[in-house]
Amino acid sequence: MAVDRPSDGFETRALHAGQDPERVTGAVIPPIFQTSTFAQPAVGEHLGYEYARTGNPTRTALETCLAALEGADHGIAFASGMAACDTLLRRLRPGDHIGLGDDAYGGTYRLISAIFSVHDVGHSAVDLTDAKALDTNWNPATQIVWLETPTNPLLTIVDIAAVAEVVHKHGAKLVVDNTFASPYLQQPLALGADAVVHSTTKYIGGHSDVVGGFVATNDAEWAADLRYLQNAIGAVPGPQDCFLTLRGVKTLGVRMDRHCSNARAVVDMLVDHPAVSKVLYPGLPNHPGHDIAASQMADFGGMVSFRVKGGVGVAMKIAAECRLFTLAESLGGVESLIEHPGVMTHASAAGSALEVPDDLIRVSVGIETAADLVDDLRQALDRLG
Ligand SMILES: *Cc1c(COP(=O)(O)O)cnc(C)c1O
Repeated sequence: MAVDRPSDGFETRALHAGQDPERVTGAVIPPIFQTSTFAQPAVGEHLGYEYARTGNPTRTALETCLAALEGADHGIAFASGMAACDTLLRRLRPGDHIGLGDDAYGGTYRLISAIFSVHDVGHSAVDLTDAKALDTNWNPATQIVWLETPTNPLLTIVDIAAVAEVVHKHGAKLVVDNTFASPYLQQPLALGADAVVHSTTKYIGGHSDVVGGFVATNDAEWAADLRYLQNAIGAVPGPQDCFLTLRGVKTLGVRMDRHCSNARAVVDMLVDHPAVSKVLYPGLPNHPGHDIAASQMADFGGMVSFRVKGGVGVAMKIAAECRLFTLAESLGGVESLIEHPGVMTHASAAGSALEVPDDLIRVSVGIETAADLVDDLRQALDRLG
């Protein structure tokens, strides 16, 4: 008996979609099918699985669940977020062009500018907050527009529906990297995106203990292509990683609620602190994307960036001298992290249109006690700011 229904609420889908009790033993949790191959009853016949690069039941459970959370017909899991991005971009041919949001994840920029460029796929950095300009300046070679919202690390908000309309008018495809919002806060397919990509390493896994990627789409043809490429290229997640990601996703809703409320507490302190020159958080009413965020997201997320008055030296010291905010790349885990994007995650964007200010600090607000997080950041700002 299938326990999940498309009409179920988000948390119900997170717990049940793709996760019927296992048929042979009744195991309530989808087992880790740690096997590379599957016995076949007869030559040319199989029970749904042949070889584990092509498919594995633990991966199927994860793919079914995540597709349900994005409201998608098709979901395909990968070994990492970058593997998912790479596989998505393989639909491009020499001479094609990518319109890349001008505040994209550094690794995505590197993949496009250093790897795809070798195969004669062009790209330009585009300000996607201006859908009209995108339309007016449309490059006829553009086949894919790649959008992040909120962006990383500047937390700019892009109107997904407005960009989708322009992209479709010109016959191209819109990909939304939904890693920062997670499907709990934002579902881009419903807003017109053709494909959604995730680094499940972040909020979906949620515990900083597994790397993974995911693509969701309602485009049956593209999905078939991606499924073919998933097998042909082989950047697939192992069953243990799928299990961990699926375990993480069960609590995505309750974790995101706490990430968001803790982020609000941190922001309230930062906006009043004299060492801080600017707080970048879409939940602030004076954030330029606040109204769009309020309409396309369920809440404003757990990522906060801020600039400090003392410049790069002070920013680097503050990032290194907190007690609870661990100095580390990545985001979206239950524990709070802090980083200096200019030197760390976005070093590869130095000198490009995607370069970030050097007095910028980014925090991934975890689910520790809010008052402890606020105190930790405040003491660092008091002492070093
Ligand atoms: C981390 C991240 C990626 C890359 O994912 P990996 O799992 O690290 O390969 C892509 N996009 C965004 C927005 C990310 O934060």
